[in-house]
Amino acid sequence: MNNQIISAIKKVIGDESRPVALHEPLFCGNEEKYVASCISSGWVSSVGEFVDRFERELAGVCGAKYAVAVVNGTCALHVVLAVSGVQPNDEVLVPSLTFVATANSVSHASAIPHFVEVEENSLGICPIKLEQYLQKIATTKNGFTVNKNTGRVIRAIVPVHVFGHPCQLENLQKIADKYNLILIEDATEALGSKIGGKPVGSHGVAVLSFNGNKIITTGGGGAILMQDEALYKKLKHLTTTAKKPHQFAFEHDAVAWNYRLPNLNAALGSAQLEQLPRYIAAKCALAQRYIEAFKNISGLNILQEPENTKSNYWLVTLVNDKVDKNWRDDTLSALHEAKILCRPTWTPLHLLPMYKDNPRADLQLTENLHKRIISLPSSVKLGLEYV
Ligand SMILES: *Cc1c(COP(=O)(O)O)cnc(C)c1O
Repeated sequence: MNNQIISAIKKVIGDESRPVALHEPLFCGNEEKYVASCISSGWVSSVGEFVDRFERELAGVCGAKYAVAVVNGTCALHVVLAVSGVQPNDEVLVPSLTFVATANSVSHASAIPHFVEVEENSLGICPIKLEQYLQKIATTKNGFTVNKNTGRVIRAIVPVHVFGHPCQLENLQKIADKYNLILIEDATEALGSKIGGKPVGSHGVAVLSFNGNKIITTGGGGAILMQDEALYKKLKHLTTTAKKPHQFAFEHDAVAWNYRLPNLNAALGSAQLEQLPRYIAAKCALAQRYIEAFKNISGLNILQEPENTKSNYWLVTLVNDKVDKNWRDDTLSALHEAKILCRPTWTPLHLLPMYKDNPRADLQLTENLHKRIISLPSSVKLGLEYV
């Protein structure tokens, strides 16, 4: 089986240079030019033309009215949760099958991550199981949803578009409306993905990341996308130390954050954004090659974009139909020996020491998927030769 997997991967990525990374950034456009122009102008920090430009262009690409660029995706999630009305000691529904930042940002807002179950199709939160679960554990008090077991308000939900595959956002929004939950999309992996023809980020409030391993990078960076002008103004103010505009005086009107993305990083981002359509095309082509290469290996499948969506195929993912004891780690060892640096998915967050006692739904499928998933080399450059 391991040899079959290795030769299927080699069919797609070629047989030459090793090691092959899981995901590496690619700079082949105006990156040096734009970064150099920051340096020669002296505008390298939190003020400069590229920050405004990057925000404008991001909003455009994602179908959002506004974007606020910040220092990373974790901060973006944290600040938008806090500003949207999540209070200390509230619970926030998050998947357990996600990068730790989704839950950490909830903790940074002094709230409590409450883990819910995913579905096999998109790897996102399962709307059916969520509704059943809330019916069982929640009650309504003064118009708010309260966890009967803990007495705390369940204030918000953060669905994640895992590996770029859009989750069932519309159905989750219906549940959020019914239970009076704030919905914030963790779209950090899904820049350029689409739901029913509309870009991810155009729905309501969504968060992006430009960490070095994402589809485009600013070195480190993140952004919040939104349609609401009042929220935009509040976020812009509170992420830039709440300084009141004045010719020379330093006056601030709130305890706020210094989360603004520096101009240097935004310059890199503007150049990267110019490449996004090509990068997405490359990733989709790469995914198609993997789908083809694994077609005849029984029991293994490449995760495909859910119906009525377009995935950016940020990380191409191999899924075993069933749990085979030791399969994942044996396969990963063999792949690493062949210098193909594949990875398992994140350890489910409810199994990490800091989150082991958090409230949670039945997470059998999450634990089961963790044993069945391997992410394959997905760098843009591997797909470019196929477009
Ligand atoms: C990348 C990522 C984030 C944010 O990460 P940063 O490194 O802080 O930009 C949040 N959630 C998920 C699911 C991610 O993959």
